[in-house]
Amino acid sequence: MASIFTRIVNGEIPAAKLYEDAQTLAFLDVSPASHGHTLVICKQELPTLLDLPPDLLFAVARTVQLVARAITAALQPDGLNILQNNGAASGQTVAHYHVHIIPRWKGDHALNHWKPGTITPDELRDLATTISARMGVEDAA
Ligand code: AMP
Repeated sequence: MASIFTRIVNGEIPAAKLYEDAQTLAFLDVSPASHGHTLVICKQELPTLLDLPPDLLFAVARTVQLVARAITAALQPDGLNILQNNGAASGQTVAHYHVHIIPRWKGDHALNHWKPGTITPDELRDLATTISARMGVEDAA
């Protein structure tokens, strides 16, 4: 069954569209974390970051930048979060690759989920070593 985002791409359900090109579509999130919260999707229905070929990743990133500039010009936020969930455990609820653009204003507390003090400098170093040893791996499996 097609994802809800594919149904938006196909015009079967409405969305507040901001931008569209051959490979990507940007529209406002229906349950926004902040004013102007936007989703940029890859039109092709691929579940996560791990599934996208580089050209589609680039296309989405380019649209994220274009739309982020327009949001900044229109709404003048103090900053923007770019957020992207992969897999149900991460909070992904729509298994169709998308990037969140979340405009932020000082003191809005829209996203307060970082956890300071939960990892030591040694643990950080070890983790960086473990991950960087896998750089260049094409298939994460
Ligand atoms: P995620 O949790 O990263 O999978 O994000 C999915 C997002 O899609 C959520 O922020 C939802 O609010 C949003 N969403 C779900 N259905 C729609 C829809 N029909 N139009 C716009 N946004 C939607």
